[in-house]
Amino acid sequence: DFMGEFSTAFNSMVIRLHQSLEDLRQQEELLTAFTESLKQEIAVRIKAEEALRLSEERYRTLAALDPLTGQYNRRHFFNLALSEVARLKRNNGVITLCMLDVDFFKKFNDNYGHLNGDLCLQQLTKTAHSTLRQMDIMGRYGGEEFIFLFPETAHEAGVQVAERLRSAIEETPIELDDGQRVGVTVSIGVTAIEGSKITNKPDIVLREAVQLADAALYKAKADGRNKVTSSFSNA
Ligand code: GH3
Ligand code: MG
Ligand code: MG
Repeated sequence: DFMGEFSTAFNSMVIRLHQSLEDLRQQEELLTAFTESLKQEIAVRIKAEEALRLSEERYRTLAALDPLTGQYNRRHFFNLALSEVARLKRNNGVITLCMLDVDFFKKFNDNYGHLNGDLCLQQLTKTAHSTLRQMDIMGRYGGEEFIFLFPETAHEAGVQVAERLRSAIEETPIELDDGQRVGVTVSIGVTAIEGSKITNKPDIVLREAVQLADAALYKAKADGRNKVTSSFSNA
């Protein structure tokens, strides 16, 4: 009869509905577990990416520094200097460039040994660092030669800074590994770059400035060392 058929159909529908609900619940559970494992995986990846970023940063920093003195190496110094020169051209500013060379350093090594020579370079850069402004850029050009860029510094002011640097080094004895204290002097060649006069590309401007500072340094050596000499024409 009708009621019998209806209740059979109804019952089987209820059973199927129940089954479907059960399936849905199971699928929801699976989905929740899957979402949870995805979240964990994302967290792991974020951590790994952060570690990679940190180690890349560390590597980049190390690659920019001279291991002995902790100062910028030559390549990094020139990268920074190039952007300074490019900026200079845009804003018509002026910067000073200096080359510094330790006087009679071969003799220093001969007298006190190479390790003390290394100590000398380390202490000398510390003195330089504490004499200069935060914005000044120092690099190890090679051996016992250092290069400096003083931003926003005109030629005359730059010569004064170089003179202050020279005298600070002269007045700060080097402490050797046996506690003995010995003096050391440096010679510095100075030149300036004026943005308004730049007509060449930054790398050429920089190379010419280094040559001028080098020539001035050579002159300071020839004039007896422990001197600041400049090579700059206002023409
Ligand atoms: P000058 O006054 O003309 O500059 O004479 P100098 O003896 O300083 O110049 P020279 O170029 O003849 O000698 C430089 C010396 O610097 C020779 C080299 O062994 C030494 N030197 C270069 N790099 C290092 C370093 O990293 N550590 C030590 N200890 N010595 C170094
Ligand atoms: Mg030298
Ligand atoms: Mg020297």
